[in-house]
Amino acid sequence: MQQSIEAEVIDRLKAGDVMGALASKARGLIQDMREKSSEEIREEQKARMKQQVDEFNDREGEENEVDGIDCRICRNKGLIEVLSEDGLSSSIRICECRKRRAEKLRADRLLRESGLVEMIESHTFRNFETKEDWQKKIVQHACDYVRDQGNKWFFFGGQPGAGKTHICTAICRMFLKKSIPVRYLLWKDESAKLKGLINDADRYEEEMKSIKEIPVLYIDDLFKVQRGMKPSQADVNLAFEIINARYNRSELKTIISCEWTMTELIGLDEALGSRIKERRREYVYGINRDMNKNYRIKGYEEEVI
Ligand SMILES: [Zn+2]
Repeated sequence: MQQSIEAEVIDRLKAGDVMGALASKARGLIQDMREKSSEEIREEQKARMKQQVDEFNDREGEENEVDGIDCRICRNKGLIEVLSEDGLSSSIRICECRKRRAEKLRADRLLRESGLVEMIESHTFRNFETKEDWQKKIVQHACDYVRDQGNKWFFFGGQPGAGKTHICTAICRMFLKKSIPVRYLLWKDESAKLKGLINDADRYEEEMKSIKEIPVLYIDDLFKVQRGMKPSQADVNLAFEIINARYNRSELKTIISCEWTMTELIGLDEALGSRIKERRREYVYGINRDMNKNYRIKGYEEEVI
C-alpha cells in the first residue's frame, strides 16, 4: 500500500474517524491489487514475447539450400528477431550472413556466365606443374599480372600442350574471385558461331557487344588452325573487330592464348598483332616450339620461354 494512504489512515484514526480510516484502507488495498495485477500482466506479456522471439529464432530456414552457406546465428532464415529493452516488444533484423550470401550468389552467377565452370577448379596456379624453371617463371608472371592494376593485356603464345589454357584460366579464376566479370571465348567454337550470325544483324551485334564490353575477356586458342594453314580473312576480320573495340577501352583486360607467337601474329596481320602487343606491355610470353631444347626466357622483346 502506498505511504500516503497509510498516513491518511493513521490521521483519520487519530481524529476518531474510524469509518474514514476504513474507507482509506480499502482504497489502498484496491490500489495495491490493481498494481499487482498490471505487474503480473506485464510479466506474462514479457514471457509471451520471449517465447515468440525464441520460437522464431529457433526455426530453421532454407537460405542455405540456395547458396550453401550454413549460418547458425539466424539458422538460415537471413533474419533475427530481437527483444526490445523492456522485453515487451520485438523487431526483425537482417542477419550478417545476408551480405555473404549476396556476394556468394554474385560470384556463382559470374562464374556461370564466364563459361569457365567446368575448368575453374582444375586450372589453378597451385596445381600447375612447376618442375621446370620456365614453368615457375610463367606462374610468377601470371600472378604479377593478376596483381597489376594497370589494365594491361596478357598474351601467351606458342607450343601446344605447354599449359597456356591452364595459366590463362587460373588468371581468370583470380579475377572471378575478385568479383570481376569474365567471359571465356574458345576461338574455334565462338568464331564459328559469330560468323554464322552474319545474316542476323541484331543477334550478331548483341553477341559482339557483350564480348567487346566484358571487363575481362579470355580468348582461348586464337586462330587455331591445322598445322601449316593460316586463319581465313573472315577470322582475321572478326578478331580485329573484337581486339580493336577492346583496344580503345583502356579499362578492359584481354587475355589471349594462341599457338602463334606474337611475332608470327604480327606477321599474319600487323594491325591486329600490333594492337595486342601494345596493350599487353610486359605480359607477353611465347613457348619455343621445340620445347625439349629451349625453355629459356630470352627477354621481353622476343618473349620466348
Ligand atoms: Zn545468418
